[in-house]
Amino acid sequence: MDVARGLIGRSTSKSGHTHMKIITDVSQVKALAELGSEDNYEFRAFLKEISIPENEIDEAFREAYESVRQQIDCSECANCCKAALPVFSMGEMKRMAQASGMPVEEFMDEYCCEDEYKGEYTFREKPCPMLQENRYTLGEAAPECCREYPHLHKPGRPRAMYSIIDNSFTCPIVYNVLEKVKPIIRSKDYYRMLREDML
Ligand code: SF4
Repeated sequence: MDVARGLIGRSTSKSGHTHMKIITDVSQVKALAELGSEDNYEFRAFLKEISIPENEIDEAFREAYESVRQQIDCSECANCCKAALPVFSMGEMKRMAQASGMPVEEFMDEYCCEDEYKGEYTFREKPCPMLQENRYTLGEAAPECCREYPHLHKPGRPRAMYSIIDNSFTCPIVYNVLEKVKPIIRSKDYYRMLREDML
């Protein structure tokens, strides 16, 4: 269960705090996420059992996200645009078509298909056809699910653990955030139980 955690480089600062080495290489992230997947699913089950309020868990995700994203350059990575398919509405497709200078019917025929979720669309193929040299070319016309990715700042993270674990295989930010959050929440729960025992 702890194989992946054992592989992650950690160092201790003068203040005694443990720092996690941030992994940015996508192949390494995939391999480590596979090794750690059992632990991640155990963590998901653990989150359902503990009595730490959801907003505290969300806060731990948000803080870890703010710290990790400053240490990873998405323009060097762009792996979400290569490895995942976005889901977007007709309105969002129209905005993309307009930004790309194509009539919406042509944009749809060329790049899009219906997603399994009724009324939504996705691209036919990966990587994202709007990606050029690791840069998304349509700027603000990106669909909401891309602009908000990897969604770690949002409320309700314990209920989104399946998708977080799934994204940890491809997104270095998600992988590193999960590795940062797991020991924080586990120790929060441990000290909460200790306090209860002492009462
Ligand atoms: S969000 Fe994740 S997968 Fe996408 S570019 Fe940034 S680090 Fe890479």
